[in-house]
Amino acid sequence: MMNRKRSVTALWKEFLREVVGPSVGVECAEYYRRVADWALLHGRDFGAGVMERSGLSVLARLDVRLYLSAQPGVAPGMELSRLSAFVPKTLEGMAEALGNTLREMVTVWSPKDCPNCGGPMRTLVALSARKRRIFLSCRDCSHEEWLDGSPVTARVDGRIFPARVNEEGELV
Ligand SMILES: [Zn+2]
Repeated sequence: MMNRKRSVTALWKEFLREVVGPSVGVECAEYYRRVADWALLHGRDFGAGVMERSGLSVLARLDVRLYLSAQPGVAPGMELSRLSAFVPKTLEGMAEALGNTLREMVTVWSPKDCPNCGGPMRTLVALSARKRRIFLSCRDCSHEEWLDGSPVTARVDGRIFPARVNEEGELV
């Protein structure tokens, strides 16, 4: 176990040294690409299940030119101090931190707050074989609802993507 714990720490330090440290002066889109590329490069270290649960399997493959938020909640210049304060104990925890970092940069926040806890809600798209459907997902609790306010009772099969905002300001 000691060994495994040390290897997670070593991998995290490698990420900070190779990706986060050299990204202080870059723009968000470039930082996104670097984090995403590194995550994909280490996809086999994390394993398919962890890549899926952390959201990395989708987030790391997004075209950031289409998805970058107008107000990305991440500033590359602050990332080294933010992420250095975090010490992941497992590969899963590390993948979650990477997934959350990418997610912050592509989130379209709904103007509506969560009716359950008052937290902010992300606008997401559920893709299934038949259709794509926009829903809102609370950042702070498990509440999810469709755009008409009805609850998402069963998690949709298929994949979940961040929503985008087109030039007319419409959700796509
Ligand atoms: Zn909530």
